[in-house]
Amino acid sequence: MHVAAGWAGKLIHACQYCDGPILQGSKIYRGYWYYRRKRHTRYWHLACYFDESNAYLDMNPYVPKQTGNGRPVLDITLEDRRVRKQLLNRGSYLRKLMQETVKFSLPGWEVKLASINTTYNEVADKLEPIGGVPRSWFS
Ligand SMILES: [Zn+2]
Repeated sequence: MHVAAGWAGKLIHACQYCDGPILQGSKIYRGYWYYRRKRHTRYWHLACYFDESNAYLDMNPYVPKQTGNGRPVLDITLEDRRVRKQLLNRGSYLRKLMQETVKFSLPGWEVKLASINTTYNEVADKLEPIGGVPRSWFS
């Protein structure tokens, strides 16, 4: 829809926002669009259009656009970042260990799996304050 400011050439019966009449010769906003070769129009008072836009923008507040592509950067210190990387690697290793323990099912594998799982949960607890646990860890 295109919107343009203009003058009301005639009396318009209903404003789109307040349903009140728009007098001839007053300032209006005219919205128009074409659908199946027909021209459709809607009219607003100047102030009503502003109110409607304002209400819409209040409902949908400004969200700053993220610059660059990819995952957003975590807001943690460099030292935390180093520790987090270590913990993530450890979690990955433990996950692989759990898979292999189940896969080969050597004698006493259930006890071993339980102990690995405990360690895994400890690593997850340590990760919680520095950037949180990745979503894929417990899915
Ligand atoms: Zn109005």
